[in-house]
Amino acid sequence: MVGENPVLGCCLAGGVYAQSPVPTEPTPDRVTRLAPSPTGALHLGNALAFVVNWAMARKNNWRIHLRIEDLDAPRVKPGVIEQTIDTLRWLGIDWDSGPEIQSNDLQPYHEAMQGLAQARRIYPCSRSRAEIRDARAPNEGDTEIRFDPTLRPATFPHIFEDLGTNWRLIVEPGEIVFRDELLGEQPIDVDRNVGDFVVWTKGGVPSYQLAVVVDDDRAGVTDIVRGHDLVESTARQILLMRALGIGRTSAYWHLPLVRGADGRRLAKRHDDPRIEHYRSLGVDRERVIGLIAYWCGTQPDREPMSPAEFLGRFSCDTLPKDDPVFTREDDEWLTH
Ligand code: GLU
Repeated sequence: MVGENPVLGCCLAGGVYAQSPVPTEPTPDRVTRLAPSPTGALHLGNALAFVVNWAMARKNNWRIHLRIEDLDAPRVKPGVIEQTIDTLRWLGIDWDSGPEIQSNDLQPYHEAMQGLAQARRIYPCSRSRAEIRDARAPNEGDTEIRFDPTLRPATFPHIFEDLGTNWRLIVEPGEIVFRDELLGEQPIDVDRNVGDFVVWTKGGVPSYQLAVVVDDDRAGVTDIVRGHDLVESTARQILLMRALGIGRTSAYWHLPLVRGADGRRLAKRHDDPRIEHYRSLGVDRERVIGLIAYWCGTQPDREPMSPAEFLGRFSCDTLPKDDPVFTREDDEWLTH
């Protein structure tokens, strides 16, 4: 069932994966999450995703949960958690629960791993060259090495005990098909793309994929809004949900990514797109929100806009098909 949702201004569909049609009325039991990784200060591209996620939630009466994804310890920089929270507030974003800090409690991930082991869906593996990379949130442009099923061990343990080894999920052949509310149907063959992927890392923490699935389930998340570099991860997360017997389903909204003038996903290499940089130059948040509104097609030109105005005017319908590019004119307009 596909229909125009008057509230969201988006084309909604029940989806192959969804059990029931997405309701057209806002309901207080819908929950979304903001899930920043404190591996570096937030930049304008992150800001677009968080501001849009916030506006969709506040418009539709979804509850907002803030989760800090800090399990990728070597990449987490001191002070960045506090700075991230401060930047979100400065942007005018608020939330209803959290911040939940993933590293504070690893018990739920251990329990999930025990369940997967009992079902004989995982195995320890010290073979691969790509273990560490597999375990991060993969960003667009990362190349992953497929883990061939022939590398699996002959037997699978039924207890999760060796916490200092990588563990992989057994991925069966076949496509996962899910509906993205913005991009439409997404057929993804995880087996062909990456094969058995890492769910627990030899660093003694869950991989990004496992942590997200466990945490989204615990928080009762129903609506996931994030950049389209994570579309492939969604298929892996759906596989993990099935393996864990999680019956709940989510709606997915994968947003455009802001790119630098070189066409690559916005990052520190592009001059200095950090929000902190513009704050330190005295740029008002209305300018930052105004630029995001321009990128989102919410307004035709760069004009300052308050978070409340953005919330009132934002519609998914105007989101660009192509990723917005952060140009020199954008930077000049911000710093005028
Ligand atoms: N922590 C991830 C990031 O900052 C987002 C993960 C997610 O939304 O699932 O890229």
